[in-house]
Order: sequence, then structure tokens, then C-alpha cells
Amino acid sequence: MSPLIALVTRLSEAAESNWLMALSAAMPQETIRSIRQLSPDELGRVDIAIVANPDPADLERLPNLKWVHSLWAGVERLVLELKGLSRPIVRLVDPDLARTMAEAVLAWTLYLSRDMPAYDMQQRQSLWRQLPYRSAPDTRVGLLGLGSLGRAAARQLRLAGFAVSGWSRTEKQVDGVETYFGADGLDAMLRTSNIVVCLLPLTAETTGLLGAREFALLPANAGFINFGRGRIVKTIELIAALDAGAVKHAVLDVFETEPLDEQSPLWDHPGVTVLPHISAPTNPSTAAKIVANRIDEYRATGVPPDGIDFDRGY
Ligand code: NAP
Repeated sequence: MSPLIALVTRLSEAAESNWLMALSAAMPQETIRSIRQLSPDELGRVDIAIVANPDPADLERLPNLKWVHSLWAGVERLVLELKGLSRPIVRLVDPDLARTMAEAVLAWTLYLSRDMPAYDMQQRQSLWRQLPYRSAPDTRVGLLGLGSLGRAAARQLRLAGFAVSGWSRTEKQVDGVETYFGADGLDAMLRTSNIVVCLLPLTAETTGLLGAREFALLPANAGFINFGRGRIVKTIELIAALDAGAVKHAVLDVFETEPLDEQSPLWDHPGVTVLPHISAPTNPSTAAKIVANRIDEYRATGVPPDGIDFDRGY
């Protein structure tokens, strides 16, 4: 009997059926079905699960499962919920997603570097005032995270003329980027970054990484962009840093709880731009092709791709 691929999600039926269409179009030779529709016999034929926010109990219903491909780039929820699963879990690494994120990093870096929040405020007060201009080469952008997204963002920022620094867990060399690593490296990078962009995964080490101490290291009038995960930042300490002027403006796309609570002080804070987690949405058609390539390779070699490192957390 030929193997089956199960789509395992806690998405709405409509969202799941969109994914089924994209995945089936990318690999017409495979039979891909929602786990919701599989009979007990068919569950036994599944060797690969494609997942998006899966219920861990669903994966336990697949006795012959060999590996799992996630449709998302972030894996903190899988790391937490699927720790006991002994099969590899592969995350989405999509160059199209990296391009989209790099575009967002450039757009919101320019928003801060060209003082758009201040000009918006001035217009509301009918105020005609020209603020000092600081050029891109005189503006250093510090990227937290030099993974697939951080490196794509670095390339885009350099093309736009910005001075770029980057921080990672292990030592890295990236063309044209001043690189830092480890705890000492973080402090050194923050001290020289006019705009800090967070593109880190949420792990035990990065939870609450950025608070009062870190924001106090930034040069005057620094901007902050969080496109990684909300819990990397201590929100109350960020608000205090904004109130004290240690951070001039923050662009936040990710939050401790999403959607952002209606009562959150971030909504009305004049130093905060709130975005509804839109910096880099997954594109089902390009993501489906990436998953299809991984599955083709597995069918040809019988070797599952490398999975995420549960101990490292990403
Ligand atoms: P990735 O390729 O795994 O890269 C992660 C980077 O973070 C690596 O450079 C890694 O260092 C660094 N890092 C991890 N832990 C660290 C630590 N404790 N100290 C210093 N550096 C650390 O991940 P990615 O594909 O670039 O994605 C990054 C994150 O972006 C995802 O996990 C997800 O949370 C977020 N994301 C957000 C959106 C959105 O729409 N807002 C969309 C997609 C993804 P090494 O290089 O040394 O390993």
C-alpha cells in the first residue's frame, strides 16, 4: 500500500483546505489528506505529517510516522508541546519568507530613520518643523539573530546603504556586517546600534532577553523593532524605557499574547507602532514547494531531513 501524508492542524477547516490545495498542487504524485478525514487503517499508512499548530495527541495516532514538516518558521510551540516525539521535526525555511521579512525590516527601519513617527505627530499638531537628517551610512542597524531571516535583512539593509551589525549565539562571519556573539557581544552591539531589530527565535535563553538594562545601553534616540517573538522583550521595561526616552520609538509586530489585549497600554503609547503580526506572512504556494522538495528528497533517499534541535530550542 502506498504511503499517505497527513495534514495535522488546529486551523479552521477553510484555512486547512487552502493548505491542502497548495500542498496537493505542489506534489500531485502524493496523497495528502487531513487527519480529520483518515480512517484507522489509513492512519497506519501515514509516514509524513505536515503540521501547523498540531494537537500533539493527533500525532500519537500515527504509528508509522517517520518525520514531521512544520508549515511555520517559528518552532517554540512545537519545542514545548512535542518534546517527547522521537521523530525529526523540520521547520519551514523559505527564501520567499526571508525576502518578505527583509522587505519589512527595510521598510520599518526607514520609517524610524526618516523620523516618520515624529512627522506624523507634527502634522496632527499642524506643526511645520524640519528635524535633523541622519543618512543611512551614519545609521547603524543592529540585528539580533543572523539566521535565515537576519542574513536576508542584513543584505537588504546594506543595499540601502545602512551600516549593519549582527548578533548570534555562535560566532558568524557575514559579508559587510560587523558581527558579535554571546552575552558580551550583545552589550557591545547594543551600545553602537541606532536601530535594533529583533529576529531571534523564542527559546529558554532568549525569553526576557531585552529589558531595562539592555535598553539603557542604546545610544540616544535609538529605535527598536521586534519581528521575532513578543516574550523576548520585557514589555513593562520597554514602556518604561520609552517613557524615560532611552528608546525613542518601538515598532512591535509580535506580543506576549496575540491578538494584543484591548487593554494593553501599547495601543495608545505615542512611542509605539503596533502591527498585527504581519511582517512576514507564510506564502502557502512557495511554502508548499519547499515542503514538496523535502518530501521528494526523502522519497528518493529514505533519509528524513535534519530536524530542529530540542535542547537548543530552535
Ligand atoms: P534561524 O535561521 O534559526 O536563526 C536564528 C538566529 O538566532 C541564529 O542566528 C541564532 O544564532 C540566533 N540565536 C538563537 N538563540 C540565540 C541566543 N541565545 N543568543 C544569540 N543568538 C541566538 O531562524 P530564522 O528563520 O531566521 O527565524 C527567526 C525567528 O523569526 C523565528 O524563530 C520566528 O520566531 C520569527 N519569525 C517571525 C515572523 C513574523 O511574521 N513576525 C515570521 C517568521 C519568523 P546561531 O546563528 O549561532 O545559531
